[in-house]
Order: sequence, then C-alpha cells, then structure tokens
Amino acid sequence: KKIVIAVDGHSSCGKSTLAKALASRLNYAYIDTGAMYRAVTLYGLRNNLIAEGKVDEADLTAQLHQIKITFRYSEAAGKSETYLNGENVEEEIRQLPVSRSVSPVATIGEVRKHLVALQQEMGKNKGIVMDGRDIGTVVFPDAELKIYMTASPEVRAQRRYDELKAKGEDISFEEIKANVIERDYIDENREESPLRQADDAIVLDNSYFTPEEQLDWAFEKVME
Ligand code: C5P
Repeated sequence: KKIVIAVDGHSSCGKSTLAKALASRLNYAYIDTGAMYRAVTLYGLRNNLIAEGKVDEADLTAQLHQIKITFRYSEAAGKSETYLNGENVEEEIRQLPVSRSVSPVATIGEVRKHLVALQQEMGKNKGIVMDGRDIGTVVFPDAELKIYMTASPEVRAQRRYDELKAKGEDISFEEIKANVIERDYIDENREESPLRQADDAIVLDNSYFTPEEQLDWAFEKVME
C-alpha cells in the first residue's frame, strides 16, 4: 500500500537528500516544497515585488495565479528540476538573492494557502515523499509517516557552504551561517504555519549520520 511520507525540519539539515533517496528506493514521487516557495520568490524578485527584503504582499498575492510551478525529471542531471512558467530555474532558486528573500515570502498567508493547495493536489494519489516545514502539520496532517529532521546550525551551514563553493560561488561561511540562523528564526516564529514538530513525528538528529545511515533508518520506519 502506498503512503504519504512527510519530511520536515530546519533548512539545510539534509531533508532533501534523505527525501530524494527514500523516494527513489520506494519508487515514489519526490516533491521539494521549498523549491515552490523559492520559485514564487524568484518571480517576486524579477518583477520588482521585493525590494530590500520588503515584499509587496498585495501585488504578489494578486499575481499568484500567473505563477506556474512544475517539476520535470532531467535525465542529464539525474534529478527532478524546478520550472517557473516553463523556464528551468533550478540553479537560480538556490542562489543567495532567493535564499535571502524566501522566508519573508513564506510568511504570507495567501502564498501559503496557494502552495499548500497545489501540494495537496500533487500528493492526492499517495506514493509520495514531500519535504518542507509544514508537511506533517498542515499539508498532510494524516501522513502515514512523519520524519522531523534537525542538525546543528554549524553542520547545516557547512553543508550549504560546501554546496555553493562546489558551484564556484564567492561566499563566506559566516554569511551562510547567518542566513541559516535567520531563516530558522523566521520559520519558527511566523504566525502562519510556523515550523514545529508534529506530535506524531519521529525525530532524526542528523548531525552525525551519513546519508546511507539515514536512508536505512527511514526505510526501516516505512517497513514497520
Ligand atoms: O527547504 P528550503 O530551504 O529550500 O526552503 C526555503 C524556504 O521556504 C524556507 O526557509 C522556508 O522559509 C520556506 N518554506 C516553508 N514551508 C515549506 C517549505 C519551505 O515555509 N513547506
């Protein structure tokens, strides 16, 4: 029987690595909901609806129906990639301008309502691993398996730093760490669906686990 698996937790704690691997082992679909908030943010930046961290909520909300977000599997990249109105934005949504503005965008109730509805539609046939902040609490409160992941801010910042460095980005560790901490704060303290552990979630502190160990651990939970 196919189930819904929710993977929530702090930014850069390895959610997507685990969720992707788990989906592939189970032959399930993987949905990265952070990518959806990031795509909306990129749209806002490109259309001058975000300036100096301030989001023009009314205009962004009014334009939500014009923002089409889709995922398409790339054979070349060996992974699913994010498209904004038909354009591949997978690279651009991971860069710092989007990372800096995404948490404020994700505080907007109308944006959340819109994306949550899309996510529920994507998962309605089950057989899905979805990662985010509110999957086990809001999007799929009845998910059969909920995993809540965490890791220390240093471990998380190091991970993101290594990723961006590998892509040749000119950025300091301190800058990344500050961004990780700031996003945690905004995610945990916003009014709309703050990041919190669902009562029935199982916790995975992944500071000291390898991706292989995490996958085995999660796979066992699915089989239980
Ligand atoms: O997962 P990722 O770090 O790419 O998510 C980017 C941002 O999107 C998060 O910092 C958070 O503010 C927001 N987000 C959210 N709810 C989700 C997924 C992401 O608020 N389900």
